[in-house]
Amino acid sequence: MRTLSGIQPTGSIHIGGYLGAIKQWVELQNKGECIVFIADLHALTTPQDPKTFSQKTLETAVELLSSGIDPEKCIIFVQSQVKEHTELAWILNTITPIGELERMIQYKEKSKQFKDSVNVGLLDYPVLQAADILLYQVDSVPVGKDQSQHLELTKTIAKKFNQKYGETLKVPEALVLDMGGKIMALNDPKKKMSKSFPETCLFLFDEPEVIEKKVMTAVTDTGKTIEYDTAKKPGISNLLTIYSLFSGKTMKELEKEFKGVGYSKFKRRLAAMLTEKLEPFRRKKKELMQREVYVKEILERGRKRAEIIAQSTMAEVRQKVGLLS
Ligand code: ATP
Ligand code: MG
Repeated sequence: MRTLSGIQPTGSIHIGGYLGAIKQWVELQNKGECIVFIADLHALTTPQDPKTFSQKTLETAVELLSSGIDPEKCIIFVQSQVKEHTELAWILNTITPIGELERMIQYKEKSKQFKDSVNVGLLDYPVLQAADILLYQVDSVPVGKDQSQHLELTKTIAKKFNQKYGETLKVPEALVLDMGGKIMALNDPKKKMSKSFPETCLFLFDEPEVIEKKVMTAVTDTGKTIEYDTAKKPGISNLLTIYSLFSGKTMKELEKEFKGVGYSKFKRRLAAMLTEKLEPFRRKKKELMQREVYVKEILERGRKRAEIIAQSTMAEVRQKVGLLS
C-alpha cells in the first residue's frame, strides 16, 4: 500500500496536526510505502516573508523528523523541488470547473481570514493538492477531517481525467481518524487548532512552562464533571481526546480515573502528562536544528526518489493529453 500526505510550512507543528495526520504517517511508514512532503507552494497562497520562508521550510522538515518520520522508511521532500506538481496542476486546472473550487469551505474561510490578499492560488489550492496526490498513484491519503472535502474533489478530478483521456490516475481514499481527526483550539473549542492562528495552538515543541500555561487557561465548559460529550462539553471533550491519544488510555478509563475530580486538577494532570510525552520531541528538534546539512541531504535524497515516480506519471499524462513529445 502506498500513502502520501503533506504539511504546509506555515508555522510550527501543533498537536492537532500531529494527532490528526502525522501520527498516522508514522504508523503507516512501517506498513507500506509512505511519501511525505512539505507543501511550500501551498503555503505561498497566504502571506509569507521571503526572508525567512526557506528557513521555515527547513524547520518543518526538522519537526517532521522529530515527530517520528523516518527517512529510511519514508520518502520526504519539498513540494517546490519536484516540478511535476505544478505541471500536473495546470493540466488538472483545465478539467476543473471554477464552481467546484468556489464552494470549498477552506477557500471561503481563508479568503475571509486573508481578505486583503485573496489570490488565484487560494482558489486553486485544491487542484494543486489533487496534483500532489495523483502524481504518486497512491492508495490512500491520511489527513485531518478538515481536508475531507478536498480529498473528495481529488477523487472527482481523477475520475474526470480518466474518463476524458483513458485510465491513467489512481483514485485514492482519504484516511481520516474518528478520534483525533479534528483537534479543537484550546482557547475556543468551536474552532479547529490551526497554525495560521498561533493563539489556538499547543505546539508539539512547546516548553513545559508554556504547556502548563496553555492547558491551565484552556476554555472549559459549565458544570464540574469530567465527561466526554462533544455537544454539551466541547472544551472538556477536546482535552479528554488529547489526554486519551497521548496517554493511550480509553475514554472510559479516563472518565473513571477523573470521577469527582475538579477541572483544575484534571488540567494539571493533563499538563504534566503532556510535558512528559512531548519531551522526546523537544529533545530531537533541538538536536536536529544543529544539523542543517544532514537534513538537507535527507530532503535531496527524497526529492530524487519522488521525482522518479512523478516523472513516470507525468510522461503518461502528457502522452494521454496529446502534448507534443
Ligand atoms: P494552516 O492554518 O496554515 O492551514 P494547519 O494547522 O491547518 O495550518 P496544515 O499544514 O494545513 O496545518 O495541515 C497538515 C495536516 O494536519 C493536514 O492533514 C490537516 O488535515 C491536519 N490538521 C491540521 N489541523 C488539524 C487539527 N486541528 N486536528 C486534526 N488534524 C489537523
Ligand atoms: Mg490547514
